[in-house]
Amino acid sequence: MQILSLRTRSIHAGESEPLAVPSVAPPLHMANSYLVDAGQSFSAEDLDDTSPLMYSRWANPTVAQLERRIAALEQTENAICFASGMSAITGLFTETLHTGDHLIMTDVGYAGALEYTHDILPQMGVQVTHVDTSDIRKIAAAVQPNTRLIHVETPCNPILRLTDIRAAAEVAHEAGALLSVDSTFASPLVTQPAELGANVVMHSLTKYLGGHGDALGGVLAGPRDVISSIRRGVGIHVGGILSPFNAWLILRGMATLALRMPAHSRSALQVAQFLSDHPHVSQVIYPGLSSHPQYDLANTQMAMGSGMIAFQVENLEAMAVQLQKRLKLISYAVSLGDVRSLVFHIATDAIMESSFRLAGEALDSYRRFAGDGIFRLSVGLESPDDLCADLDQALA
Ligand SMILES: *Cc1c(COP(=O)(O)O)cnc(C)c1O
Repeated sequence: MQILSLRTRSIHAGESEPLAVPSVAPPLHMANSYLVDAGQSFSAEDLDDTSPLMYSRWANPTVAQLERRIAALEQTENAICFASGMSAITGLFTETLHTGDHLIMTDVGYAGALEYTHDILPQMGVQVTHVDTSDIRKIAAAVQPNTRLIHVETPCNPILRLTDIRAAAEVAHEAGALLSVDSTFASPLVTQPAELGANVVMHSLTKYLGGHGDALGGVLAGPRDVISSIRRGVGIHVGGILSPFNAWLILRGMATLALRMPAHSRSALQVAQFLSDHPHVSQVIYPGLSSHPQYDLANTQMAMGSGMIAFQVENLEAMAVQLQKRLKLISYAVSLGDVRSLVFHIATDAIMESSFRLAGEALDSYRRFAGDGIFRLSVGLESPDDLCADLDQALA
């Protein structure tokens, strides 16, 4: 062949050597598409888990490695990653709930998920009943003939209330429904929802699994048939899948998950004990403290307390301003599960209006946990002595 032009060489030169070398660390595969046989079908309907790689919205080697790793940690057959935790939750709802179906949804949990189930799902003709899933009888009482999915969060954001996964799974399966568990606050090191009967385990990878505060992502882990239909129906057709670069960052973060979670938990216990003894703190909610109202359940369902604490003070708004000004190590910011400690305040009236919309007994129950509002503290991997000292000088 004649010598190729500079223009063509600038695109193709060097490609004769294959990139697929047996590297030890996972390579970052950024390709959008892959060489395929001319006989390969173009339709998503013909794709399954064994189809050759074709286009990265369907499957990508770096993302697939992360999916296999999460499935292995959660003891499920398969997993699918999304661009964010919210994309994973709405993907699950899109695939499992259709017009006329019924969802039983935790009444307290991730704000975005609550707002979606209050505002968007009913517009699509899906019935939603919000219940306090820490009371299994309330879940059972909400079951209808058209109930398809029960979605719980444990420990729940932001008040760390727990749901008994085994008991919730029994109610779901009796009703012919699936149980999905948002296990973001726990991570697979703390709780194994699938082993306790959950059908689908969901995580915001943005939090503990990524662990370094630098990559958004989400995942659903579950049985092969459920994940395959979500991949086809939502991954391909809605398209909010994870980028290979974020998958690569999250794979790197996950390698130290088993070292980080015990460290987060040990530090959080020390900080929770410190806060419990502090004169300006009126209540501390932490699953690793015997003062947690569901301490027995925490002991059976959680291998350790994880790194999240909720605490109350006398005058929330004034203290929020004070902490934001005075804290030196702990960042005043949302998100969680980061190596850095993060704190944020959530006022009860405000969250009721925007996200939770509870009334009557359910609101009373929330107030028993959270009063007029709480600080949500994500205890990072700094020295717990330094964190207590930072809180002490800021709360004074
Ligand atoms: C952060 C979070 C989500 C949403 O995840 P994103 O990655 O921010 O979209 C869902 N559930 C819980 C419990 C979370 O903390």
